[in-house]
Amino acid sequence: MIDLRSDTITQPSEEMRKVMSEALVGDDVYGEDPSINELEEFAASLFGKEAALFVTSGTQGNLAAVLAHTRPGQEIILDKESHLFLYEGGGASALAGAQLRILDHERGQMKIEEIEASIRAEDIHFPETGLIWLENTHNRSGGNVLPLSYMKDVYALAQRNNIPVHIDGARIFNAAAASGTSVEEIASYADSVQFCLSKGLGAPVGSILVGTQQLIDSARKKRKMLGGGLRQAGVLAAPGLHALKTNIDRLKEDHENAKMLAEAIEEHTPLSVVNTVETNIIMADTTGTGKNSGEWLSVFKNNGIQAGAMSPTIIRFTTHLDLSKEDVQNTIDLLKNL
Ligand SMILES: *Cc1c(COP(=O)(O)O)cnc(C)c1O
Repeated sequence: MIDLRSDTITQPSEEMRKVMSEALVGDDVYGEDPSINELEEFAASLFGKEAALFVTSGTQGNLAAVLAHTRPGQEIILDKESHLFLYEGGGASALAGAQLRILDHERGQMKIEEIEASIRAEDIHFPETGLIWLENTHNRSGGNVLPLSYMKDVYALAQRNNIPVHIDGARIFNAAAASGTSVEEIASYADSVQFCLSKGLGAPVGSILVGTQQLIDSARKKRKMLGGGLRQAGVLAAPGLHALKTNIDRLKEDHENAKMLAEAIEEHTPLSVVNTVETNIIMADTTGTGKNSGEWLSVFKNNGIQAGAMSPTIIRFTTHLDLSKEDVQNTIDLLKNL
């Protein structure tokens, strides 16, 4: 079975398991886990930020960021298809008391004028705007990269208004690889970034939040509150560090594979690819084919291919570390014979 459901399904490699078994560990709540400390220092320097925090998941990293940046009742400006709004169980509202101000977007970009118009003025009736939220790459629009010039404009607007900016960068390394820039440059237009070790980078567990020392100190306390203070978790951090050192450069292969697959889907199936494939995600529309997403997923599954449904009409294919060039060729052959 060729699994294109998500880049989260990758298995830790032999090498990674070896790194895990040999990891030095200590009690991280006491700040004494050498492997976690090394990972956090490495991540902070990679992003050009003062400090970093290892968290159990992207969802926990985003929530810790919301808790550290905002007070209950404050508003977060974000796009209406952002992961925080759609897929994090309402945690920002339920657990941080944040009010979400959702805006339209195109390929993950909210209009600068609309962000500006949504920033709350000083008025006894109004909530305060506490945070501006961007997602890069943008999952729902098919892994699109936010242009640096856009990030720069949003950050300048935020700074003029004294509002922090957070990037949900679950796939920020894909963004950097696709646009030929560094995560440090992307992160220079934000106060904090969350990124996933467990997606394209291929680690089994975890995410990282980076930002100023002050923000990370606060987030560390919030993470404890959320039950995310870990003990000898160096066995989980070590594969993350290994992934950061070995699996970044190869992400462009995932992007090439996604482009090849997208062409094959267009050519050999009645589905139409509706996103510009910039990174590792393909969105295919089933409209007019006589079958909905669920029915197409069964057809694919019966032919050895697994994909995911994003909606009743849209199917998502994701390329990743455990999908070789040969697997892509096999997938294309399977598509031809559907
Ligand atoms: C996967 C993802 C997350 C959350 O990560 P988990 O580790 O699954 O909690 C957050 N934001 C985006 C854009 C994602 O794709």
